[in-house]
Amino acid sequence: MSPASPLGVPLSRFAPAPTGYLHLGHVANAIYVWGVTKAAGGAILLRIEDHDRRRSRAVYEQALLEDLEWLGFVPDRPPFAAFRGGACDGRQRDRTAVYDAALATLRAAGRVYACDCSRADILRDSGGGDELRYPGTCRDRHLDDGPGRGLRVRLDATVERFVDLRHGPQVQQPSAQCGDVLVRDRDGNWTYQFVAAVDDLVQGVTLVVRGDDLLASTGRQIQLARLLGREAPPRFLHHGLIMKTATQKLSKSDGDTSVREQRAHRRSAADIIGQAAALVGLCGTPAPLFAADVPRLPPLVDLAQLVARP
Ligand code: GLU
Repeated sequence: MSPASPLGVPLSRFAPAPTGYLHLGHVANAIYVWGVTKAAGGAILLRIEDHDRRRSRAVYEQALLEDLEWLGFVPDRPPFAAFRGGACDGRQRDRTAVYDAALATLRAAGRVYACDCSRADILRDSGGGDELRYPGTCRDRHLDDGPGRGLRVRLDATVERFVDLRHGPQVQQPSAQCGDVLVRDRDGNWTYQFVAAVDDLVQGVTLVVRGDDLLASTGRQIQLARLLGREAPPRFLHHGLIMKTATQKLSKSDGDTSVREQRAHRRSAADIIGQAAALVGLCGTPAPLFAADVPRLPPLVDLAQLVARP
């Protein structure tokens, strides 16, 4: 696999998981994705991240698509022209052939092994720390693949360095943060870390714009993509989150913040976008903001200028 740059302009993506309704946190992400990408002259793919088959629902997918369109955030079409292999509608559940091919590449490089550890096993053995670190229990057990077993990728102890467009230079060592990455869980679901790295590579995504909660994942996605043959990683921009409390970000279970609910209360798209922009610190006080005007927000124009710089 090699990184494609099908359009010759920055290619970004909006990648919601259909596990709940679109909420203000998604709207803030859409503002950043559309604002920065369009101000940089780029294009945006829509990717439905339904790799978690247990939690994804068709009804949420339909609602996400409708609400996004209603807000006025329009992805570039045909959205998945860059996909090679598998179905071309951008749903991860239809892209098994693409993930199988990526897995085969990693297997051929001797990187993949089966693991039967449960989360409780890993919690017990990981030794604490900010993040659950897999200690490599099954690395040399040579287990066969099979039901009830996950698959992990053996990581190198390399340090990944990248420049985040908002946070500046970053240094991450995935092998110390999270240990060997799970690519398929014990129920047969592909994991987010794996599918995000594969899709960003195969789709030719060159600009990843997402929330700060995923900043720590970036090094492992860069390493996975490199193991799959990606030469240059995408540019990354991680933005602030809308918080419910000082420590808790908004989530899909916060029904009152869903776009659906607000539409039902007859709030306009511009009011909702303006509120999300204010909550994420892009403007001082909430004022109506149309999706088409988002690429003119001064902080996003400034960030867009960084996109073009090496
Ligand atoms: N699917 C993730 C979310 O809904 C986004 C992941 C990404 O942008 O890499 O938060």
